[in-house]
Amino acid sequence: MKIVIVGGVAAGMSAATRLRRLAESAEIVVLEAGDHVSYANCGLPYYAGGVIEERDALLLQTPASLAARFRIDVRVRHLVTDVDAQAHTLVVRDLETGQEHVETYDRLVLSPGARPVVPSVPGIERALVLRDVADVDRLVSALGADTTDGDTSDGRARSAVVIGGGFVGLEIAENLVRRGLAVTLVELADQVLTPLDTELAVRVRDELEANGVAVRTSTQVSALTPGTAVLADAAGTVVDEVLADVVLAAVGVRADTELAVLAGTELGPRGGILVDEDLRTSVPDVFAVGDAAVKRDALAAADDPEPYRLIPLANLANRHGRHVADVILGRTGMRPSLGTAVVGVFGLTAATVGRNETQLRAEGRPYQAIHTHPSQHAGYYPGSSPLALKLLVDPDTDLILGAQAVGRDGVDKRIDVLATAMAGGLTASDLADLELAYAPAYGSAKDPVNMLGYVADNLRTGTTRSVQWHELDELVHDGATLVDVRTPAEHADGAVETVRDGELSAAVNIPLDELRARAGAEIPADRPVVVHCQVGQRGHTAARLLTQLGYDVRNLDGGYLTWRDAERARNSQVDAAQRRTIIPRSPAGLSRSTV
Ligand code: FAD
Repeated sequence: MKIVIVGGVAAGMSAATRLRRLAESAEIVVLEAGDHVSYANCGLPYYAGGVIEERDALLLQTPASLAARFRIDVRVRHLVTDVDAQAHTLVVRDLETGQEHVETYDRLVLSPGARPVVPSVPGIERALVLRDVADVDRLVSALGADTTDGDTSDGRARSAVVIGGGFVGLEIAENLVRRGLAVTLVELADQVLTPLDTELAVRVRDELEANGVAVRTSTQVSALTPGTAVLADAAGTVVDEVLADVVLAAVGVRADTELAVLAGTELGPRGGILVDEDLRTSVPDVFAVGDAAVKRDALAAADDPEPYRLIPLANLANRHGRHVADVILGRTGMRPSLGTAVVGVFGLTAATVGRNETQLRAEGRPYQAIHTHPSQHAGYYPGSSPLALKLLVDPDTDLILGAQAVGRDGVDKRIDVLATAMAGGLTASDLADLELAYAPAYGSAKDPVNMLGYVADNLRTGTTRSVQWHELDELVHDGATLVDVRTPAEHADGAVETVRDGELSAAVNIPLDELRARAGAEIPADRPVVVHCQVGQRGHTAARLLTQLGYDVRNLDGGYLTWRDAERARNSQVDAAQRRTIIPRSPAGLSRSTV
């Protein structure tokens, strides 16, 4: 059997090597338009930032090493320009000689990946993208040599604008700061990292700003001049102009479906190549994998007519590659996809799996949100630091719909455990009973994942009822009494405020340890009560106590910290929208805060 694979990176090369391990006699040809195969595109931002020092470290295999170990016929600088699926042939152009030839196949695997989307604005030709090794070479050359030595006399790049505040945009921003550049991150949405909900994403924004990145949300780049980027608000009104020696566009990717269209395959939602659970396209003997292909959505509703998503992530591309090899050789059955992702931003880590609240709301699906703020390991052990965790649960089935985490340590571990629980079909309440490895330096005897399970179980059984930060104003407006059960010192340090009849009103402060004695005299029994503490845990104890005293009680989910984060997110959105000052265009007139 002759198997031809188009695209020799994550999905394509995983397919090729798996095929060889399973079928020594197969003829395997990999056609790759670029100069390199099997390179680490996830490492590109870190090479640009100098964290990965050697360019060669990005190049995991070469055509020669693949030929030696796997007897795979790898041809770089070979662009496939056409497919005749009826005749089982491809037209291939050798980019060195310009000559074209026809290649036959028995099975064709399309693995062309996804292309960076570039916004269409005047001057955009000078914007760089980051997809492959050639791109990072262009970026490194645009940056010039290392600027961290403080020498400013050499004409090297000093400022950069990164367009797009998603995973790749954040990684590039961090690495350009590492190279000593003044970085402006421009994002059209009203928050960075939209896979996270706003009250968690605000922590990522804080981290970027604390490290000197000028974050401009609700903002777009409307034009590029030779040394600057002109910024506009979402409506297109120019609001600012910032220095931009280098511009990086990282606004997302579009599945590369060109060959699939030529082959006559069906496309799925948002343009990805439509494939079945065994990665077959609608055309016989043609398979599609990786970023170019749709992924079967593990969280799709049962009646969803299009249960697919485009999830351009490396884990899925590699799994696709391995799986398509199995299918071609007669095996079947790939798990649907959850979409599990992680990103580091300076010292902070943000990770997510499944749906976020914004998506669930858009889909009209019922959900229960749970926020917690545990330490990543025992608080008494040196180095403990807080996590912000969010779990989204189907209230009917108790199945986990999604999770998000932000923190300095232990984020990836929790999201990976939750992703595994989701893949295994565990319910949110089941998390309470997971046996997770524990010693003080690594976790807690009640791990943060167990704690999510406790909260979920309490909510499911009606042991506790919660209220979300965005529901608070209405409850208080309707007459609920808000009680802060933290200490007076904590209350004085910052307290939840609600808007009642246009007036700000603060919570009544009754510390938990005094609640039993003071409740009767100070909390009206004929009105609902909302209790809150710092993170929700003392609030839960208070809610249990007051419930047993006969009150109608809810606990503010995630406590003061979630409410405060949500308020900060709301304020940062308002601030961004209010930035209307046009900064003079001459570099002398550009203020420090705008570069
Ligand atoms: P690609 O890796 O894009 O490979 C496709 C190849 O096909 C390309 O080399 C292309 O030249 C070739 N090709 C296309 N058309 C043709 C043609 N007609 N003829 C011949 N060859 C062709 N994912 C994560 O999960 N975590 C991360 O931290 C992460 N970081 C990333 C950072 C960056 C800067 C980038 C760009 C991506 C990152 N990703 C990350 C995404 C991840 O790299 C992709 O999901 C993965 O590489 C997709 O693999 P693929 O094989 O589908 O496509």
